[in-house]
Amino acid sequence: MLKIKKLNKSYGKRKVLQDLTLHIDSGEIYGLLGANGAGKTTTINIICNLLKADSGDITINDQPISEATKKLIGIATQENLLYKTLSCEENLRFFADIYGLNREIREKQVKQTLASVNLLDRAKSPVETLSGGMQRRLNIAVALVHQPKLVILDEPTTGLDIEARYEIWELIRQLKQQGITILLTTHLLDEAERLCQKIGILKNGQILAEGSLAELRTLIPAQEIVVVQTGEEELAIARAKEYGFTPRRYGSDLAFWLSEPLELKEIISRFEGIVIDSISRQPVRLEHIYVEVTQRN
Ligand code: ATP
Repeated sequence: MLKIKKLNKSYGKRKVLQDLTLHIDSGEIYGLLGANGAGKTTTINIICNLLKADSGDITINDQPISEATKKLIGIATQENLLYKTLSCEENLRFFADIYGLNREIREKQVKQTLASVNLLDRAKSPVETLSGGMQRRLNIAVALVHQPKLVILDEPTTGLDIEARYEIWELIRQLKQQGITILLTTHLLDEAERLCQKIGILKNGQILAEGSLAELRTLIPAQEIVVVQTGEEELAIARAKEYGFTPRRYGSDLAFWLSEPLELKEIISRFEGIVIDSISRQPVRLEHIYVEVTQRN
C-alpha cells in the first residue's frame, strides 16, 4: 500500500535519511520505532508531501506522492492540532472543510467520526473542557474525518495515563478492523508489541530490521532471558559464560540469554556459591531485540 524505496534526505551536510526502504501492506498496523532524531518525522513529512526527498521512490496505492495523494492520508500529529476554545464538532468541521468535503458529507462524517472515537456525547463541548485522553482521541478524529486510506499516528499515547492509553489502543484496533492501514510511531515498545503486525527499527535514517515480532525474535539466538540481581556480578558473568549463557545489560539490569529454556532450579544451580538476590525469567521481548539491533549497528 505504501512503498518507500531508497529514500534519501539531507539537511545541509547532515544526512538524515539514508536509502530508507520500507513497505506497508494494506490493512496492517506498521510500527516505526526509533530514538529521538532517528528520522521518523522527516519520513512522515515526506509521505505527506510536506517535504521533498533528495532522491528515492515513494508511492501510495501505486501513485507517486503528490498533492493528489494527500487526500489518501490522515495524520494525527504528536502535538494535538486542535482549537481549544472551539467545540469538538467545530474542530472537525474546520478540518473537513480543508479537505473540501461538501456540507452534507461533512456533517455526516463529523457525526460518524465523533462516534468512532467515542466523543459523540461531547460534540458541543469546547476542547479545553475535555480530559487529556479525550483530546488525544479528538486529535485522531481529525486524521479520520475525510476517510483516508492511510492513517499516520505519531506517538498517539505519549503522556497519557494507562486507562486513556487502553482506550486509544482499542480505537486503533477498531480502525484496523475497518480496513484502514496505519503507520504508528512510538517510543513505547509494549505498545508496538500489542498493536503492530510489522515493525521497522530506524536508526540514523536507515531501517536496520523489519518484520513481524516473530520474525524479529529470530535475530536473537535466545529462547528465554534471565535477569539476575547480585552483588557479585563479575563472578556471575564468569559462571554464566561457562554454561554458555550470553550476558547482556538492559539499563542497569544484568541479564543472560538462554539458548534453551531451563527449569528455575537448574538456573539457580548454575550460580551455586554466588550470592544471588533474585532471578527472574522473561520471554524475548521487543525491548531486547531493539537494544540488540540498535547497539550492534
Ligand atoms: P523525534 O522522535 O525527536 O521526533 P525523529 O525521529 O522524528 O525524532 P526527525 O525530526 O526526523 O527525527 O529529525 C532527524 C534529524 O534531522 C535530527 O537530527 C534533527 O535534528 C534533524 N532535523 C530535522 N529537521 C531539520 C531541519 N529543518 N533542519 C536541520 N536539521 C533538521
